[in-house]
Amino acid sequence: MARWAEFAATLDAVSRTPSKREKVTLLAAYLRRLPEDALRVACTYLTGRVLPPGDPDKLQIGWSTLVEVLQELSGATDREVSELYLRWGDLGDAAAELVARRRTVPLFREPLTLEATHAQLRRAAAVRGKGAAEFRAAVLRALLEQAQPMEAKYLVRVLTGDLRIGLKEGLLQEAVAEAFSARPAAVRRADLLCSDLAEVACQARRGELAASSLRYFRPFRFMLAGTLADPAEPFRGGSQEVLAEDKYDGVRVQVHRLGDRVTLYSRTLDDVTDSFPELRQPLLQLGPAYIADGELVAWAGQQPAPFQRLQQRLRRLDPLEVAEQVPVVLFLFDLLRVEGQDLVDLPLVERRQRLESLGFSGPVRLANARPVRDVASLREAFQAARERGNEGLVVKRLDAPYRPGRRGGLWLKWKEPLATLDVVVVGAEYGHGKRAGWLSDYTFAVRDGDRLRVVGKAYSGLQDAEIAQLTEFFLRHTVRDFGHFKAVEPKVVLEVAFDAVTRSDRHDSGYALRFPRIVRVRADKTPQEASTLEEVEALYRQQRQG
Ligand code: ATP
Repeated sequence: MARWAEFAATLDAVSRTPSKREKVTLLAAYLRRLPEDALRVACTYLTGRVLPPGDPDKLQIGWSTLVEVLQELSGATDREVSELYLRWGDLGDAAAELVARRRTVPLFREPLTLEATHAQLRRAAAVRGKGAAEFRAAVLRALLEQAQPMEAKYLVRVLTGDLRIGLKEGLLQEAVAEAFSARPAAVRRADLLCSDLAEVACQARRGELAASSLRYFRPFRFMLAGTLADPAEPFRGGSQEVLAEDKYDGVRVQVHRLGDRVTLYSRTLDDVTDSFPELRQPLLQLGPAYIADGELVAWAGQQPAPFQRLQQRLRRLDPLEVAEQVPVVLFLFDLLRVEGQDLVDLPLVERRQRLESLGFSGPVRLANARPVRDVASLREAFQAARERGNEGLVVKRLDAPYRPGRRGGLWLKWKEPLATLDVVVVGAEYGHGKRAGWLSDYTFAVRDGDRLRVVGKAYSGLQDAEIAQLTEFFLRHTVRDFGHFKAVEPKVVLEVAFDAVTRSDRHDSGYALRFPRIVRVRADKTPQEASTLEEVEALYRQQRQG
């Protein structure tokens, strides 16, 4: 069994050294010593998750449960907790202090281990229905009763999904490589194919990285598109043929089908199958064993419906009821595995041929695409895609492999030039008039390295149901309550449109968006994927030149 105390001490040592090299070495030495079960747990936690990607369970221990349990154990008041939080800027550090003040200490203290702690958290994630929230709180309480302050600090950080040790994905991969004397490139590749560092670490230890491949029901990250600067770009350097594919405005999904199982994964690698029951049958009919990539759109008659309608499908508790009101169509544009064969390294033109040979039916359709050889035909294709009610095109190189998790020139997106930014909500305020009871005005920020910088405030262009849902969410994720205004955990990403970027002293970013309007809630994006201050600066410079 692996002691939690050693895990915590290692993370602490890693967080204290500023040297990336040393961080990697410290972590590698630790991982090397772990037995397999503990290695899996440690690697999953290191990536900021409690459960591996694609796991059907979700551990719903949020901020409010953590604070409640910490208060129960320490007797601290709301005010004390909020002061501690502000002093440290981190709930993990606050937890260490609160646990040190525990009122009762158990008679027998069992040292916490990674394996046993994880088994408890797994049980908590699996409970459903009535009493589930109480059960989760009880599990947390039992763990924090046993934990030493330093252990509590990292337990809480694991639960809030941010270890704060300065180890991003690339360095974690390096540490795994170093721990098991594997090539960093081999670890990177395996990690891209399965997006599960725990699995990769076990493969590395067994020397099996070379055999790593896509696996059914292990979602991996999507290939993304760069932005097309001008329509001539794909043809530079000699004429070449590219695929002009309609750019659908919906949500991205990865479909895994094997045996009688069909699973849909979102861009955040969550299982969203249950929201779309009507797709099951046509996806079973498509082929016996495959992994495919596509975009799911809300549908109205012969045309795509606005993206917002799709949110209703993702939210509803009774998916069948809303399926009739908001039909969807799934447009598949890529095929990555068929039966036992990975297709990711094949050129797009071959993957597309294989895709076209599948048994499409009903709401599962083939994405509209055609090869083009020159700028004029590309423009025509763009116009035609717009006329079909789509956003524009994704222009794809026909010779390109599928690169999981990569964004680059192999795929280029072309949509109308209206600038939008994906921002993170950091504060919420009650609205006025009709919106008086709702947290409907949002202060939002962009990323600046590890920090968030405020760039504006907008009151909502969202639908009432969305505002109600966000209100409930923000009340549960309030970090500091100023009454009318609440500072909230940075979790919700919004896409905002605006007229201009201006210089401003009002916000700590030094910029403000003029007339920001909320276009949509980006439930499919994490705060780490939000826009950056550099993008804001670039937009500011661009408009001055323009
Ligand atoms: P990104 O996905 O590049 O981070 P974003 O989420 O803001 O950016 P857009 O810039 O509008 O979205 O466009 C990219 C998205 O378009 C893809 O992530 C994908 O979900 C969607 N998409 C729609 N049709 C296609 C297609 N034919 N090929 C690839 N992606 C497509």
